[in-house]
Amino acid sequence: PSKEYEVLRRRIYSNTKEFWYYVNSGLKSLNKSMIGVERIHKIKNIVGEHFRSLLKDVSGLAEVDNYSKWRQQESESLSILVQSRLEEIQNPPNWFTARQLVCKIEKFCGFGCQLHHIVYCFIVAYSTQRMLVLDYHNIEAWRYGEVWPNIFLPFGDTSTLLKNISVVKWPGNQNSQIVYLPPIDSIHPRPYFLPQMIPADLAPRLTVLHGDPIVWWIGQILKYMLRPQLSTIHILDDYANKLKFQKPIVGVHIRRTDKINSEASLHTLDEYMVHVEEYYKQKELSGNVSRKRIYLATDEQTLFDEAKRNYPEYEIIGSDDISRTASVKNRKSKEALIGIIVDIHFLSLSDHLVCTFSSQLCRVAYEIMNSLYPDASSRFTSLDDIYYFGGQAHRINEAVLPHKANGPDEIDLQVEDQIFVAGNHWNGYSKGRNLRTGLLGLYPTFKVIPKIETTTIIDTETIIS
Ligand code: GDP
Repeated sequence: PSKEYEVLRRRIYSNTKEFWYYVNSGLKSLNKSMIGVERIHKIKNIVGEHFRSLLKDVSGLAEVDNYSKWRQQESESLSILVQSRLEEIQNPPNWFTARQLVCKIEKFCGFGCQLHHIVYCFIVAYSTQRMLVLDYHNIEAWRYGEVWPNIFLPFGDTSTLLKNISVVKWPGNQNSQIVYLPPIDSIHPRPYFLPQMIPADLAPRLTVLHGDPIVWWIGQILKYMLRPQLSTIHILDDYANKLKFQKPIVGVHIRRTDKINSEASLHTLDEYMVHVEEYYKQKELSGNVSRKRIYLATDEQTLFDEAKRNYPEYEIIGSDDISRTASVKNRKSKEALIGIIVDIHFLSLSDHLVCTFSSQLCRVAYEIMNSLYPDASSRFTSLDDIYYFGGQAHRINEAVLPHKANGPDEIDLQVEDQIFVAGNHWNGYSKGRNLRTGLLGLYPTFKVIPKIETTTIIDTETIIS
């Protein structure tokens, strides 16, 4: 190992101890006397400095350990592998005899929701080795149909539905030429290759490369689906120039209007900006940040004024024209699709993303971001949910340290216990159900690791879980 590597490694070790010494004694003194707000404030500040310094050093390791090039190459080579497999499935040598999977666009929902539905169809197509064909004749549901072909490349040279061949109900069998795939929430029998499963043959490489392989996998499918037409590349380049998009930049997506109180709670602009500030404080440890920037995407137009008024030290990039087309009443316009694509594009290109993972649009941006970096699994802050794929079976945590419940809200853990995760409270605790004890409750997040579940490609006759 290099000198830098050893120095950093020891520094992290001793500073982790220091961190604990500080917090420990700080908390003890809290108990001893009723100390004032000012002292607590001081403690918070210095703990924050310790924390950022540690994070900087750990990130520094990845820069000096001589593996950056390997990470880059490995991510490119895995991506080429998956992209070429998808291309092969979508371009069979003889499309008259190729087996097809029909994916109907029938749900009335937003762009992120539609994209995720198609991602799900692609996962089934990939796993059952069938060519995916979209059926978007329900014009009302697939309101992007008219503009889509102008923006993205087709899924394959001939990916149209074969006529005069009967469409068999899911799951069909090896000999069924065309199988209709029901939506993820009503598929029966349910195949076990659905998220958060990742393909077994990619798993050994992906688990080394990436912090959350399922996000990488979904990102790769989106990468294939959203291959831009040349004209789209020009549109995005023009926007980049017009908006003066440049790094460092934090992508902030604020989902409001129809989502609030039905599917998500309201978070103030300040709640998002705390995390943006945190990002820049961290960044400043590695050198002066000449200008703090955010890319703001939202369906609530007034937030642009609010952000400019309350955060004058920030350069606020984004367009309130786009947010106008994002408002509930304008979402059906043709411009709206361009607006969404532009927003998703710049959010995914940002250095860090602050948003609510309850929003599909934000999850799409994060998934695409993970196809742009070798590993962008820690480049986000979600104010609510952890990452999930709608309709997924579950997400599993595995205990690596034992835990004794400290109060009625908490649950016990034994090493190797498996937990179905419900969420992260972003305060050191996650919530979930321990499969050994059947109990639901809180546990310290550092005592678990995510379990990566894998599946092999299988044919439709053996899909039943
Ligand atoms: P979700 O409802 O937030 O889970 O995500 P969806 O993508 O399924 O639906 C949200 C819809 O709201 C999108 O299709 C857009 O029309 C609109 N929208 C929400 N936030 C934004 C935004 O930041 N930018 C743009 N351009 N549109 C947005």
